[in-house]
Amino acid sequence: MAKIQMKTPLVEMDGDEMTRVIWSMVKEKLILPFVDLKTEYYDLALLNRNATGDRITVDAAEAAKRLGVAVKCATITPNKKRMEEYPQLTQMWKSPNATIRSVMDGTVFRTPILIEAVKPAVRSWKMPITVARHAYGDVYKAVDLSTDEGGECTLIFRGDSGKETTLCVQKTEGPAVFQAQHNKKSSIRSFARSCFEYALNTHQDLWFSAKDTIAKVYDGEFRDIFEEEYQNSYRESFEAAGIKYFYTLIDDAIARVIRSEGGFIWACKNYDGDVMSDMVSTAFGSLAMMTSVLVSPDGKYEFEAAHGTVTRHYYRYLKGEAVGTNPVATIFAWSGALKKRGELDGLSGLTAFGKALEDSCLSVINSGVMTPDLAGLSEPGFCRETVMCEEFIDAVAAELSSRNN
Ligand code: NAP
Ligand code: MG
Repeated sequence: MAKIQMKTPLVEMDGDEMTRVIWSMVKEKLILPFVDLKTEYYDLALLNRNATGDRITVDAAEAAKRLGVAVKCATITPNKKRMEEYPQLTQMWKSPNATIRSVMDGTVFRTPILIEAVKPAVRSWKMPITVARHAYGDVYKAVDLSTDEGGECTLIFRGDSGKETTLCVQKTEGPAVFQAQHNKKSSIRSFARSCFEYALNTHQDLWFSAKDTIAKVYDGEFRDIFEEEYQNSYRESFEAAGIKYFYTLIDDAIARVIRSEGGFIWACKNYDGDVMSDMVSTAFGSLAMMTSVLVSPDGKYEFEAAHGTVTRHYYRYLKGEAVGTNPVATIFAWSGALKKRGELDGLSGLTAFGKALEDSCLSVINSGVMTPDLAGLSEPGFCRETVMCEEFIDAVAAELSSRNN
């Protein structure tokens, strides 16, 4: 059979540990036999980031901006323990995801992959819920102050024009703690645009929630920027597409989410997104079944799995053990990127291949063949056979071949 041709290359960002092993298996067994794959390859393995002074990460992100679609493998973010594990590191390099996010000025959308065998903890959920988290500022870039006596705390803003504004935070009689946070209006606007773009692209309603009844100025600014972007740039396309945007108080959003059937995008401020995405992903089942896509305000995409490099499995793999790491989210990162590339380049065959790859995964799982993580979560009677990572990929390859013949 002739292989499917591509036009524009994908930006391929390779990574670390178990996911790097899975990466090459997925390419070799699920993509290369079917697609004449074109990629611009960037090796983001920790030691290569170190060797290039992390230039490789920035180059990869720039390439994603230039070419429009990237697929990324999970990568190690070094911490103190990793510095001991890799003594050759010259610096505790920043998280590659944070670097890429900041170069692309993007927002992360996390969506669970639903399967018949695993029922969401919330019984009404029938479709995935996508959580979009604003990943700049607020409490994550706050300054904190703890005092051991009473006194007055003020907030002073000195404008570039020389104008000064002073606010009393609080006068306290005894020791207290204080915190000052900020956000940039440009970042809020980019966040809003990425959300509207992604909602249009995936044809789903967009909800945005904040606490503007309490944080009237701060959260009010978020609400107003979303509304302004919606009215000025997106309302017509939303109406034409038959999808809705609405703002609601976070308390109300949570009540609605729990009562919903799913099938929408929930845009959250940084902290809300941090905690709510963990809640939503746990309630849907497994981190191994969670996909993640970074979308820039001008519609550039980077696809990945939401989980990390699965270190514990990797060390068992190095000892020669067969490991049961679930490759589904990594496979979906590839299929998502190929589908998107096909859509942008007008290559319906490529888009159809991405879809067939996803359907093959789901059909293997729905036939009762699954990795141990899913077998453990599965409703009684669904799991027929627990398989290791490579066996699962082989089963998907067999299914995909049978569809191609
Ligand atoms: P992790 O790699 O997501 O793994 C945590 C645990 O979750 C695993 O030990 C495993 O549990 C389970 N798990 C995750 N993915 C799985 C899969 N595909 N199949 C089966 N089980 C899976 O998180 P971590 O151990 O905290 O982090 C490891 C490294 O990944 C760190 O260096 C971190 O910096 C990096 N990281 C990278 C990204 C990214 O690049 N996007 C994201 C997060 C973390 P059991 O061991 O119990 O089976
Ligand atoms: Mg979290």
